[in-house]
Amino acid sequence: MLSMMHNKMSLILGFLVLTFIGGQAQPTSPILTDDELSNLQAALERDTNLVQLIDYFGEDPVELYENYKMAVHRSDSIWQHDQHTLTHFDDFGVTEHLEILPLIDWFTDNDSLDGEAGVAYLIRTDQAMILFDLGENSQNEDPSPLLRNMEKLGVTVDEIDFIVISHNHGDHTGGGKWSRQNTFSFTGHQIELEDVQVYTPEEMNYPGLQPIHAPKPLKICEGVGTTGVIPAPLFFSDIGEQALLVNVKDKGIVAICGCGHQTMEKLVKRAELLFDEPIYGILGGFHLPISTGRNIGVIYQYVVTGHLPWDPLTREDIEDHVRLLKKTGVKIVGISAHDSCDESIAIFREAFRDDYRDIIVGRKIYL
Ligand SMILES: [Zn+2]
Ligand SMILES: [Zn+2]
Repeated sequence: MLSMMHNKMSLILGFLVLTFIGGQAQPTSPILTDDELSNLQAALERDTNLVQLIDYFGEDPVELYENYKMAVHRSDSIWQHDQHTLTHFDDFGVTEHLEILPLIDWFTDNDSLDGEAGVAYLIRTDQAMILFDLGENSQNEDPSPLLRNMEKLGVTVDEIDFIVISHNHGDHTGGGKWSRQNTFSFTGHQIELEDVQVYTPEEMNYPGLQPIHAPKPLKICEGVGTTGVIPAPLFFSDIGEQALLVNVKDKGIVAICGCGHQTMEKLVKRAELLFDEPIYGILGGFHLPISTGRNIGVIYQYVVTGHLPWDPLTREDIEDHVRLLKKTGVKIVGISAHDSCDESIAIFREAFRDDYRDIIVGRKIYL
């Protein structure tokens, strides 16, 4: 009980300090307004899924909502501060070739490959091979679906120069078992890794390695860098996510995203801030579920969209995303099926037609 009180006090104090330091943000109370309280109450009365979820997380709904309000405020302050202080990348470089080979995602090119609700993409440029995320391995198998797919696709661990982890969720770190320990894994046990540099979105560890946690945008190698970590307040928890940016010669910037908790809008704004080049492509996970099916259960619409659980994403929201990409001039688009539903993906496919790229395990995407 004492520790709970202490936690709550720290959160409130942290919130007040951040409000003060953030400068741009107005002091706001984490305490719910009458309207907010009655919206919450109404949602709890009509929605048994929400009640079950709150039970599952074992938290007081009012406290969850207050924490979410604080997290929104805190992440707004960080976002505003970063957008005002970050500058263009210097000497970022370019790559002539960019190839993305999905090693893990939901759909596969053929039955010999494993699909799962996670992300692992192998990115080849002129000079480097980068592994972006490590899949989910939900059954903690050894060898994992990732390693099995790598073998079938002729990819070995020693070829990888860099590993970039988008965010510390189990479908990107090689399993919840590893993300809970702030680490990651290719398979059911942590294999020995040598000569690989790892970039993580928060402090993470790996036996024998020293992962680099860089909250700000960072060049990784010629023509490749990160967006920096963009905080994403989620109703049931909080996360920070980074995406990968690649500068393709004569084309522009290609952004490769993990789960998309940072939102497509912020990803576009961040890429525009860091480069003069146009944004040529956007591919990866964007967490846009508007209907259920396959692995997209009802929980996807409640837990990780960044919206309040009783204000889920709609078709209009997806169409807004399409409009944003069109207005920005983005040419190539591909949406991961690991965290978006078929209905949302169909909207993007229809809008971008020949410029849409399905993200399918084993099928290379050339840009
Ligand atoms: Zn994900
Ligand atoms: Zn996630």
